[in-house]
Amino acid sequence: MADLKTDVRYIKGIGEQRAKALGKLDIHTLRDLISWFPRRYEDRTEVRRIADLVPGEAACVAAMAASTPTVSHVRKGLDLVKLRAVDETGALDVTFFNQSWLKNNLRAGETYVFYGRAEGNLLRRRMTNPVVEPEGRREATGRIVPVYPLTAGVSQLILSRSIRQGLNACADILPDVLPDEIRREHQLCRAGYAYENIHFPETAEALDLARRRLAFEELFLFTLGLRRLRRRREEVEVEPFRPVDMGEFYNALPFNLTEAQRRCVEEALADMASGRPMNRLCQGDVGSGKTMVAAACAYFCVKNGRQAALMAPTEILARQHYEGLAPLLEPLGVRCALLTGSNTAKEKRDLAARLSAGEIDFILGTHALITGGVEYQRLGLVITDEQHRFGVGQRAALAGKGDHPHTLVMSATPIPRTLALILYGDLDVSVIDQLPPGRRAVQTSLVDSSYHPRIYKFLRKLVGEGRQVYIVCPAVSESEEGGDDRKAVTEYAAKLQDEVFPDLRVAYVHGKMRPKEKDAVMSAFAARETDILVSTTVIEVGVDVPNAAVMVVENAERFGLSQLHQLRGRVGRGEWQSYCVLISDNRSEETRRRLKVMTKTADGFKIAEEDLRLRGPGDFFGQRQHGLPGLRVADIGCDAQLLREAQAAADALLARDPELKTCPATAARMAELFSEAEVTFS
Ligand code: ADP
Ligand code: MG
Repeated sequence: MADLKTDVRYIKGIGEQRAKALGKLDIHTLRDLISWFPRRYEDRTEVRRIADLVPGEAACVAAMAASTPTVSHVRKGLDLVKLRAVDETGALDVTFFNQSWLKNNLRAGETYVFYGRAEGNLLRRRMTNPVVEPEGRREATGRIVPVYPLTAGVSQLILSRSIRQGLNACADILPDVLPDEIRREHQLCRAGYAYENIHFPETAEALDLARRRLAFEELFLFTLGLRRLRRRREEVEVEPFRPVDMGEFYNALPFNLTEAQRRCVEEALADMASGRPMNRLCQGDVGSGKTMVAAACAYFCVKNGRQAALMAPTEILARQHYEGLAPLLEPLGVRCALLTGSNTAKEKRDLAARLSAGEIDFILGTHALITGGVEYQRLGLVITDEQHRFGVGQRAALAGKGDHPHTLVMSATPIPRTLALILYGDLDVSVIDQLPPGRRAVQTSLVDSSYHPRIYKFLRKLVGEGRQVYIVCPAVSESEEGGDDRKAVTEYAAKLQDEVFPDLRVAYVHGKMRPKEKDAVMSAFAARETDILVSTTVIEVGVDVPNAAVMVVENAERFGLSQLHQLRGRVGRGEWQSYCVLISDNRSEETRRRLKVMTKTADGFKIAEEDLRLRGPGDFFGQRQHGLPGLRVADIGCDAQLLREAQAAADALLARDPELKTCPATAARMAELFSEAEVTFS
């Protein structure tokens, strides 16, 4: 009997070679294998007759091979196998590309089931490259078939056969990490049934049961882990920070903090003075002024004789924070430095030496701050900006650089409550629910591309008044062949420069440029040396150029609402009326309705909820980018009710058994999940 840590190569029917292929998917152990869940399912239960095939629709059809397949060699690298299949209602022409081995597998007079998209017309039905198997095998047809995420050299069939073997090997030993009474109380099926049916569902109902059970399990373990993190933190004692006269800092600011900003600062300062490590999320819509809250906290920390670090997700942003804050804080005696991936090795060594010698008080940078050699002398506060780009693990890694430093997480993404509960279940939350005074709402309009001449004229007028302009093009998706954002951006910029604005200064920036180049372009834009900046969404997060007053988004339908909101947040940061122009030729009602939301509200929370409702959390965060340990089945947008149930169950369990002594399998699995995410409990 295998245990779940068994290397897949020792599982009957898998062996060295297949194990190696599976390794490419990071499937190493039996647990990895049976936890490789389908991305979706295809309902191939219904087997049709040829006459009932609908052109354009995928379906299964059972038909007899009417002749021996023919093979023709078209040219080098292109062989065709052709077959005519019939049933009592008609005939089907089947063509396979480069699968000449099928010639010997398909015999005249035998009946096969084909699954594929039907083509042709009522008189001649065709299928190209269908899935095929002998009638009665019911492996790839005639049932609900899982569709797995794949990689080169691992086909659907190999995966599902391997998983079959894996499930056979552990059918009897699958430990149930859910305590029995919780399982019963919440009407959840057993682990064995769940794993069997998530992969090989007998019926749609069985699949639902399996999914519900596994999603519950994930959310339950996740909640336990977060509760544990929080408790561990609350047990830690640190030296309380002393009160500091913040007047000096406030007087140095060019403006008064808003009341909401002040409240957030006070909450954070109180945390740091409490004798327990702070673990706070500061959430505020774009433009609400989170940077100054961070600066106030850093100042407070440094005046307590400790170092502060601020980690931003991009180099552009890190530099901008540095350039904004250093001139403010240096005169107040806070020694600032910038550390990013584009520092030379020597500069990095030098910075690291000064950090560990305590000669730097406030270090700003990218994730270079948490990589290898960086040591702090007395790290007291870690601030991460635009948190959703970092995983729980990275947050923990930076915190691990010191002896229980305080942590402050700044998030611009207004996260719907259900999601915040999951993502930040271990954090305290402050909300900046107020924009700095004098901001005017960004006028947003939705037009089609026939408006281009008028838009260009409008841009020219505003540039004439001294304003600057962003034009964003969508990243060409990777799946589209030959897609290249570079090209979209550079070509459009060249066209604008040559044909539309020969007398204006047009620049471009995209994600594939080297960080130094990107920085140079952004700095030039910030210094008003450029009038029009054409860009991909690399400018989406955080960048602050108050003089920019127009945001034009081409092909706006390609963006999520939250993303558009972030983009729009790049303008309207100064004293001028600002504009956001969404251009889309997509006339589908759904798209219009979605984009219209932008013209109707400026409230980031409303927009985020709408986005989540319309697109689901995968798009919201980027598929699997949320960095949450162990959430593979649970859908963090749609399983809100299940989340509440799982949280209630976890809390009830912890109330009666805080150390999880009665359920060792649960405790072990939770610890495993959280250590995979590099979150330690100590
Ligand atoms: P966020 O990071 O929350 O999107 P920023 O911190 O970049 O916002 O601030 C946006 C702009 O508002 C910056 O130009 C900043 O200098 C300015 N700002 C911040 N707080 C105030 C305030 N209280 N009064 C006026 N302007 C402010
Ligand atoms: Mg910001």
